[in-house]
Amino acid sequence: TGLYWLDLDDEAAALAWAERESRPLRAVDISAAHDAVPVLGSGFSRAIYMADVANVRNPRLVKSLKAALLALPNVTIHEQCEVSGFVREGERVVGVQTPTGVINGDQIVLTAGAWSGDLLKTLNLTLPVEPVKGQMILYKCAADFLPSMVLAKGRYAIPRRDGHILIGSTLEHEGYDKTPTDIALQSLKASAIELLPALADAEVVGHWAGLRPGSPEGVPFIGRVPGFEGLWLNCGHYRNGLVLAPASCQLFADVMLGRAPIIDPAPYAPEGRI
Ligand SMILES: Cc1cc2nc3c(=O)[nH]c(=O)nc-3n(C[C@H](O)[C@H](O)[C@H](O)COP(=O)(O)OP(=O)(O)OC[C@H]3O[C@@H](n4cnc5c(N)ncnc54)[C@H](O)[C@@H]3O)c2cc1C
Repeated sequence: TGLYWLDLDDEAAALAWAERESRPLRAVDISAAHDAVPVLGSGFSRAIYMADVANVRNPRLVKSLKAALLALPNVTIHEQCEVSGFVREGERVVGVQTPTGVINGDQIVLTAGAWSGDLLKTLNLTLPVEPVKGQMILYKCAADFLPSMVLAKGRYAIPRRDGHILIGSTLEHEGYDKTPTDIALQSLKASAIELLPALADAEVVGHWAGLRPGSPEGVPFIGRVPGFEGLWLNCGHYRNGLVLAPASCQLFADVMLGRAPIIDPAPYAPEGRI
């Protein structure tokens, strides 16, 4: 759908980055944003447009990922199966403990999102990954209501093809509590109406919360756990775990298999950060 980013504080820096990286991002007249998105609110004065930004419906993405994995030979998925700790032989991690018994592995990768730190604690390691709650709401409109994504003041509206409009999101430090709250509902509704005033007459059809794996500056941990053999991390992707998933998994596989990495792995290495 592309994305209109309204009244961005560091617009000059964004445009300079786009120029440097040859990315399709450009400043457009606010009237052009209104022409492209007639339902846009009137309280904005500047816009930049990113033509090639798309959106995915993450529950469907996970379903298709699961189907793709199950189509591969030698893949077994254990669902609803909580890992409670690691099995060690000295400094080597050789398996994980679950309610149905030990699962052994030559190599173990910890990808437990916001819960990764709790699991590493069982090895007396402190991983600075903590849950950051995010609430979203959903409207249902006509399929052509919103032709493009719009974003302002950290809040965004994302149109799905069937007319659902997703509004997100809050940033809250509430531990592992995922209960949706009325305060967030009112705040998200206010942002929605500021972005797209016609939503004042639309019904909220969904409201939920998730937990992001918050890490210092949002930089994920990708690589081997120092001090242990056979244990790896790919976690702490904070607000960008879907966007970063393909590249971080490619980088992870490169590092684990000793291949030439797609990018410099140093900023993501757990060594020195846990
Ligand atoms: C409101 C909201 C909006 C977001 N918007 C975006 C966005 O626009 N773009 C984007 O890229 N990202 C977005 N994110 C962030 C994104 O969801 C996360 O970065 C991403 O989900 C992290 O992926 P993950 O696989 O590391 O962790 P998770 O998706 O949290 O998965 C971890 C999994 O590990 C499981 N697990 C935990 N502990 C155990 C255990 N002991 N045993 C077994 N299993 C365990 C959990 O059940 C879970 O299934 C958003 C997040 C929220 C909450």
